[in-house]
Amino acid sequence: MTSKMFFRIPCSAVRLVTFKPSLRAPAHRAMATVKGIPTDDEQATGIERRTLQALKKGQDPFSILKPKEYAGTKEDPHIVPCIGTKRLVGCLCEEENTAIVWFWLHEGNAQRCPSCGSHYKLAHHELPH
Ligand SMILES: [Zn+2]
Repeated sequence: MTSKMFFRIPCSAVRLVTFKPSLRAPAHRAMATVKGIPTDDEQATGIERRTLQALKKGQDPFSILKPKEYAGTKEDPHIVPCIGTKRLVGCLCEEENTAIVWFWLHEGNAQRCPSCGSHYKLAHHELPH
């Protein structure tokens, strides 16, 4: 007994097999040669790229990193970056304090907090262009 088998191919399957070559992904994609997810160094552009390059040199042009900690003594005053000649500084004299002591810090010698006596010194900081 012989039997013939017929397969009916649905129209949607035909379309999947015979799609136009122009709809395929281009062979020269940048991701084709690179495996994995690109890093920030590879894909960052503009100001983000300049910031990443500055961070590699140890610079922090936009103060995005946690500030360095200083003892606040006369020998190791708190360094306050400033683009002008004076800056308003808030001193949280003790860790548990809920009130901040505000005072103006001027360029020149280190100044002391009027409440706790910590030393603060202004340092010029140039913003990137
Ligand atoms: Zn203080």
